[in-house]
Amino acid sequence: MNLKDYIALVEDYPKEGIKFRDITPLLGNGEAYRAATDAFVKFAREKEAELVVGPEARGFIFGCPVAHEMGIGFAPVRKPGKLPREVVSYEYDLEYGSNTLCMHKDSIKPGQRVIIVDDLLATGGTVEATVKIIEELGGVVAGLAFLIELDDLKGREKLADYDVMTLMNY
Ligand code: 5GP
Repeated sequence: MNLKDYIALVEDYPKEGIKFRDITPLLGNGEAYRAATDAFVKFAREKEAELVVGPEARGFIFGCPVAHEMGIGFAPVRKPGKLPREVVSYEYDLEYGSNTLCMHKDSIKPGQRVIIVDDLLATGGTVEATVKIIEELGGVVAGLAFLIELDDLKGREKLADYDVMTLMNY
């Protein structure tokens, strides 16, 4: 099956000039959703992952089934003010302004092998911030898995030191 058949292109969303890749048709198809998560599980097993980390919100949708299937834990990456206990945060620049992501301080054990799962790699800002937090907490980033990679935005260049797998490219 071709997973690209289940990605809808939405022009000018959320802003004019942006081509948004909508993953919800894939989520709505059991076979396609399972094929995507199965591929992530295979990769996570190869990397001997001990924990899955996913950035909100679509990283939860793809990360949690992987953790469940492998019988390992899941740790969420969230925007400020969403996690109730002590966090480690990382601020990164956007085209206009900045963004901050947080994880609970006790969400990763030192030396733990972590795989990051998200729906889409664009500029790489989100995942780079996630990597920084994981490493500050003493985790080992064993791999990064994305459903979609947008080649023009060169996110992969920020991740040259890591093992990155993507299921489709645009
Ligand atoms: P980056 O930080 O790599 O520039 O952007 C990636 C993040 O933005 C991901 O967490 C992803 O969910 C979201 N994102 C950016 N563009 C798109 C898009 O076209 N489609 C979807 N589904 N998510 C996007």
